[in-house]
Amino acid sequence: MLDSPSSPPPRVLRVAVPTPLRRLFDYRPCREAPPGGWQAGLRVRVPFGRRQVVGVVMACDNRSDYPLDRLKPVEAWLDAEPLPEDWLWLCRFTARYYQHSLGDTLHQAMPVLLRQGRPLAGRQREHWRALAASRDGDARLKRAPRQAELLSMLRQHPHGLPTQAIVAQGFTRDQLLSLVEKALAERHEIPLAGAAPATTQLLAEPALPLNREQATALAAIHERFDAFHPCLLHGVTGSGKTEVYLQLIEAVVARGRQALLLVPEIGLTPQTLARFRSRFRVAVVALHSGLTDNERLDAWEAVASGRAPIVIGTRSAIFVPLARPGAIIVDEEHDGSFKQQDGLRYHARDLAVARAKHHDIPLVLGSATPSLESLYHAERGNYRHLRLTRRASRYAPARLELIDLRGRQRQGGLIPPTIEAIRETLAAGHQVLVFINRRGFAPTLACHTCGWLADCDACDAHMTLHRQPPMLACHHCDKHRPVPDACPECGSADLRPLGSGTERTEETLAALFPKVPVHRIDRDSTRRRDAFEQTLGEVRRGAPCLLVGTQMLAKGHHLPHVTLVVVVNADAGLYASDFRALEHSAQLLTQVAGRAGRAAHPGRVLVQTLHTDDPHLRLLAEHGYDALAGQLLAERRAAALPPFRHLALLRLESPREEAATSLGREAALLMRQWVAEHAPDVSCLGPVPAPMERRQNRYHVHLLLSAGRRSQLHAACARLTVWLEASPEARRVRWSLDVDPQSL
Ligand code: ADP
Ligand code: ZN
Ligand code: ZN
Repeated sequence: MLDSPSSPPPRVLRVAVPTPLRRLFDYRPCREAPPGGWQAGLRVRVPFGRRQVVGVVMACDNRSDYPLDRLKPVEAWLDAEPLPEDWLWLCRFTARYYQHSLGDTLHQAMPVLLRQGRPLAGRQREHWRALAASRDGDARLKRAPRQAELLSMLRQHPHGLPTQAIVAQGFTRDQLLSLVEKALAERHEIPLAGAAPATTQLLAEPALPLNREQATALAAIHERFDAFHPCLLHGVTGSGKTEVYLQLIEAVVARGRQALLLVPEIGLTPQTLARFRSRFRVAVVALHSGLTDNERLDAWEAVASGRAPIVIGTRSAIFVPLARPGAIIVDEEHDGSFKQQDGLRYHARDLAVARAKHHDIPLVLGSATPSLESLYHAERGNYRHLRLTRRASRYAPARLELIDLRGRQRQGGLIPPTIEAIRETLAAGHQVLVFINRRGFAPTLACHTCGWLADCDACDAHMTLHRQPPMLACHHCDKHRPVPDACPECGSADLRPLGSGTERTEETLAALFPKVPVHRIDRDSTRRRDAFEQTLGEVRRGAPCLLVGTQMLAKGHHLPHVTLVVVVNADAGLYASDFRALEHSAQLLTQVAGRAGRAAHPGRVLVQTLHTDDPHLRLLAEHGYDALAGQLLAERRAAALPPFRHLALLRLESPREEAATSLGREAALLMRQWVAEHAPDVSCLGPVPAPMERRQNRYHVHLLLSAGRRSQLHAACARLTVWLEASPEARRVRWSLDVDPQSL
């Protein structure tokens, strides 16, 4: 595929461009070939429709299905070298696995600035920098205006610019060398990929001596460094998983390799980063949504070039190219934030598995509450099952105590025995965490005269009542309305909030315990990230206080002074229609419970419920997550659901119900005929209305494919997308295919 500068250039370049269409587009090369010749992996700017877009050359050829003279030439090449091979592999894999357009996959997988055409600099050796003397440069460059412009550009980049970025702006190397001759700029070199940073002084602080379980786990992961051997690190919260990651990373970096650690969105806190940064002397790069586009590109380049040996990131960091991959770790592997829910619907944990396999390196999936998928793999011996059963602190995770809500008067969702337990805990000088997974004041507003409920007029959903500021808000479409004074149906003034959200519980607790600070933590109270950190900082100082919050509070944070955790209502998750709802709510309850008693005092966890006899809840309370997970796996097997069968969900939506339904019916017909002949293992269910059929005034219809064998499922999906792309009817309906959907 490589076209050396001496051989004639190819006549056709097949380019992946950012479009939903699942195909490549043919172009002619531009007159000037890149220094290394035309080859796959080069980014190019091409005309596409009426726009200019950034695409990636996927192949060079001399033939096209179109007359060669009708092909448009690419506008320009953007990189002298192709994008990293491992990254291209991952994008191809992702596009194929998730049945997504390759052009859009490449586009989503690169930092915004690369999508926009900014040159990739990280792997370039040569950098140029303006010198201090350059301040009087303008006067000295009066007769060399291009050099003056070049100098002013360099001045805007105090850390220097790579040659490629400068040339891309239309300057030449000669102009650069002239500036160096005049002592206005200097040339310097950065380490190339492959050059491992010095590792003699890897640690800034000593590692902790491991306990027996940790040592056994680490030894098992260490066993082979040059082979794919996935491990499920299954350890209760606080059992020292992070310490195992730290020591694994140390070993990886000591061998001159890079480690990639993925964490849930909520887990990448300044504390987490600080813990890694204080352990290591080498660079720990963070990749998360809080970065500016420039910071993100810098981080990406630092990792892609091999300069940064350790990278910690959220979901999309799975796409960062690694110059010397050494190990991939996914912390809290069960967490829902690893799945992207729109556009390119990938699961970062699953891609991590594929990637580690491709690189032949160790993979660690860590969790206190592993997903049923990963447990199943461990059970079958596909993953090594490593357990950490003890906490480093004195106390084992607290048991869940089920508290019967039936027939009790509630105040802000809390009943008298719960309030009493809160009072005792505060009196003992400890902190209390109250978990309630509804933000706002109350789930809705009701008329006590006629039964009217505040419904959203665009969705099949109630509107949430908020007090701060006062409004009715739909959490599905973000519509807002003022709170009515009287019932719109019957005119009655007897409107009352129905149920409790975080604001209402906060209000109740503030009234019950006026001398104790109450901190509310949810998406509304923490719009500013630093507000959240400030509150947590105060809580960690240890004075008695009350924390009220949603799952933002439940996960990951180390709150050493919390000894009582209250779950206001466990029932929503128990009876939701989604097939993963029980698994997710058991994980969440276990995580919340894990916040209690992590340091000097034992913890207590009170779970309020109307269903103290619910068998799943009882199993969780009496025997813990692992026992419940075993039961849920048996149920999934019986119901032929994942991980025993694989799913792909076609979602159709349209403002016109009939349009979505009729396309769904046609697609189902096509699929049933096709699979009968080509993929008998696949079954096709639907079309059925989505659980919330109307959302934002659009009707949602689902068609579900399921199969025991992935190959057949993928063949069916491929057939389906080809048909949908060609169908004129599908152009009037928004559709998307979700492979391994997290919810139905
Ligand atoms: P996890 O990631 O499983 O929740 P952490 O690694 O955060 O657990 O460990 C919980 C606490 O125990 C931390 O304060 C950590 O410093 C401490 N810890 C972990 N391993 C050890 C060890 N081997 N010796 C002493 N303390 C440890
Ligand atoms: Zn009414
Ligand atoms: Zn709505």
